[in-house]
Amino acid sequence: MRLAIIGAGTVGCGAARRAAELGVKELVVFERRTPAGASSGLSAGVFNVQTLDPLDIELRIRAREIMVHLQKTRSLHLSRIGAIRMTTQEADIPRFERSIETQRALGADDSRIISRAEIHALVPDVKVDDIVAGLHGPNEGHLDGYTYCAALLDDAKDFGARVRVNTEVTGYRKAQGVHYLKAGDGELAFDAVINAAGAWAGKVGQLLGHPAPVRPDVHEVIIAKLARKLPYTMPFCNFYIPGAEGESVYFRQEAADTLVTGMHTYVNVPGSAVKDFDHYSPINSDDYLQTVAEKLYERLPLDDIGLKSGWFGLYPISADNRFIIGPYRADPTVIAAAGFGGVGVTSGAAGGACAAEWAVLGRLHQVPAAEALLPDRPSLAGLW
Ligand SMILES: Cc1cc2nc3c(=O)[nH]c(=O)nc-3n(C[C@H](O)[C@H](O)[C@H](O)COP(=O)(O)OP(=O)(O)OC[C@H]3O[C@@H](n4cnc5c(N)ncnc54)[C@H](O)[C@@H]3O)c2cc1C
Repeated sequence: MRLAIIGAGTVGCGAARRAAELGVKELVVFERRTPAGASSGLSAGVFNVQTLDPLDIELRIRAREIMVHLQKTRSLHLSRIGAIRMTTQEADIPRFERSIETQRALGADDSRIISRAEIHALVPDVKVDDIVAGLHGPNEGHLDGYTYCAALLDDAKDFGARVRVNTEVTGYRKAQGVHYLKAGDGELAFDAVINAAGAWAGKVGQLLGHPAPVRPDVHEVIIAKLARKLPYTMPFCNFYIPGAEGESVYFRQEAADTLVTGMHTYVNVPGSAVKDFDHYSPINSDDYLQTVAEKLYERLPLDDIGLKSGWFGLYPISADNRFIIGPYRADPTVIAAAGFGGVGVTSGAAGGACAAEWAVLGRLHQVPAAEALLPDRPSLAGLW
């Protein structure tokens, strides 16, 4: 079969790898910039499975398996500093317990719930008086989005696929069951198309005639310089609880005296929406820096933390805050792989793999529960 993938972020590269593994030889990845040149290269790079929804957990576990495979086979560097999601609410403890049960049932048995005292022992400088528990993954951490996408594409090539990048898809037509994509001066013919265009998925969806309601928000990473080197490794500390409105602070070690920090959420943040995905700036950057400073200091009350803006990019959040993966009822040869929000590095390759299975097999194989993410679901109806 001839398969087109539009977008070479973690999602598109994960789709390419899986499609190639399934035997697709006529595979073209269209990327208007470079692989990981958009959100995937601009992320904080955190990967972890410490979340609450069973399907989200499963996709993250499968993505982590791919990362570990690439670590072994392609020397992909994984900084395994650990990850802790902390809560102040007793009511979250049963949700944390269900997360651990789900992880175990899916074959991942390295995480556990830790107490306030255990968290304090791990991160003595973090203020945890009001924390009641943490979900702890000791083997998780962060990676570099560029080298990750490159490794995914290298796998795809080694499976025998031809991968072409640095080309923007600018036009589309369908005739006699064949998809024709216009890219550069030419037009190429395909049997199926995957829309993995991240923040541009809505625009590409319109081009293809199959909407992908994605509402990108701008998010900024802040660099925190500490006055001293920490004598321990600061894991990824995350205070956002899935399902909550608004944002919560996160931070992780970058170097012994440097943290990467910012505000994280799974939902759209009022005032952060971006209309022109090619020309945008951080929204109220000074206010944001101030908010991060306050929230960081509440959790990490160290003297003389120096903060500066790091970089910014887009969270491609879907209109109902869930990933959009799968074929359209009206044309099952058009497949969406979009809406990965602020967690596309940790889950994107597995989401892309699901899209590839829909394209090649016409069904899901590795994560059947991802059937819940089809683009025609009622919660997305009328949201474009
Ligand atoms: C500041 C920040 C921090 C983040 N931190 C984390 C984190 O720590 N962990 C985590 O899991 N996630 C994080 N994220 C979220 C994560 O980066 C995204 O969810 C993820 O990168 C989305 O991947 P994607 O492949 O869908 O999109 P992208 O990486 O944006 O890839 C889509 C690609 O499609 C290409 N494209 C678009 N239109 C066309 C076209 N017409 N033709 C050809 N190519 C096209 C684009 O150039 C782009 O490269 C962060 C995001 C930001 C902005």
